[in-house]
Amino acid sequence: MSCRKPDIYLRNLVAGTETKVALANGKYVTAINFDNAATTPPFCSVLKEIDQFSPWYASVHRGKGYKSILCSEQYEYSREVVRKFVNADNRDAIIFTKNTTESINLAAYALAATSGKQVVLSSDMEHLANDLPWRDKFITDYIALTKSGRLSIKDLEEKLKKYQGKVVLVTVTGASNVTGYINPINKIARLAHQYGAKILVDGAQWVPHMPVDMKPYNSPEHIDYLAFSAHKMYAPFGTGVLIGPREIFNNAVPVYQGGGAVGLVSHQLIEWDDPPAKYEAGTPNMMGIVALTAAIRTLNELQLCQVYQHERQLIGYVINGLAAINGIKLYSGGQDGEERVSLISFALEGLHHSQLAEILSQEAGIAVRDGLFCAHPYVTKLLNISAEEIEYYQTHDDKTIPGLTRISLGIYNNCKEIDVFLELMEHIAQYRQYYAKKYEYVLANDRQIRDYPYC
Ligand code: PMP
Repeated sequence: MSCRKPDIYLRNLVAGTETKVALANGKYVTAINFDNAATTPPFCSVLKEIDQFSPWYASVHRGKGYKSILCSEQYEYSREVVRKFVNADNRDAIIFTKNTTESINLAAYALAATSGKQVVLSSDMEHLANDLPWRDKFITDYIALTKSGRLSIKDLEEKLKKYQGKVVLVTVTGASNVTGYINPINKIARLAHQYGAKILVDGAQWVPHMPVDMKPYNSPEHIDYLAFSAHKMYAPFGTGVLIGPREIFNNAVPVYQGGGAVGLVSHQLIEWDDPPAKYEAGTPNMMGIVALTAAIRTLNELQLCQVYQHERQLIGYVINGLAAINGIKLYSGGQDGEERVSLISFALEGLHHSQLAEILSQEAGIAVRDGLFCAHPYVTKLLNISAEEIEYYQTHDDKTIPGLTRISLGIYNNCKEIDVFLELMEHIAQYRQYYAKKYEYVLANDRQIRDYPYC
């Protein structure tokens, strides 16, 4: 297993790999984090950079003090680091936000203000962050899935034809946070452009795992808008990114309004600053930006094409191991060689997803995710849950909501950890009834706090 770097090198890249956590039996073990799709631990390089930058920290774009000027310059320079990282065009604004959710919301408001109530094509595969923001501002329709849960390109084309030039945007995820499927973004961009639409890519699960190229404006495969979160790429501290044509942001009034986004303001008139500043009202998150650029530097050093290969091998190992366990159903194709990021969702017949996640945590200190992963329409479709059943769950709270268990890997995870996981999964599958009884309490808790685990 290699990334042309030894495992120990990759392991030492992030903080907290040796943290001990408590088990149900009172013993302590080294935590295994298989929930990297939710958030990744920080790179040590990020923490070092934060530490080294701290003595220079001051207000961005506010003040003539030496440190303030230095911070402002560093902040602006960071946009160029991001631009280069994803090969964004010079005409694009690189807007710093809080996370992917905020980025997509900002894009939705800007597009709604500049394009009127037209059609936005989202998909049945989306995280709610790339579904809900569009619903109240546009006529929304959803690209259907194939039998294996992939996006149906045929359906996309049919929908583009059906709406006869009224589709203003096709908005899809780069990679699914449920199945790990990587979407054929270049093909989707070509189709969208052919029918006069733009494309937005939710890069939350894509940008951290493989090289992303937005391509030039004149390329039919150009990505018009891209959103992603720093906390999923080893840089916590609360930064997200939205990239899109400066022209669009120029023409729309921003959602957040206040200092930093304006020129001169009177009671009669607001002179808006140019984007990106226009979209970054309030004091910028300098430390978040320091963290993001440090993480990009480390990912560049590692080379994302090698990160992809390495993680692809790791998840292949998980998939093969899980597929061999009696009663496991994998919720994505899982064939070797297919394009996917390093996560997979599954179910174990006879055990609720919530119990399974609890067992893994309590018996071996393994953190996984369970539920609907904020992709409710996608997971319920994969599980074949009918609209009537969903309505029942929405209006009753006497049943626990169905869902899946997800394992998502980062660059620092290794086969030894996967072996611990697979061994325990074998044991759970073999002694299902014992575990179901021991962790019966989880189901009762689940009913009481229904809102929590499903997103
Ligand atoms: N899109 C996808 C595909 C995601 O996996 C997530 C996070 N789970 C988001 C959007 C939202 O990201 P954030 O919580 O950082 O806004």
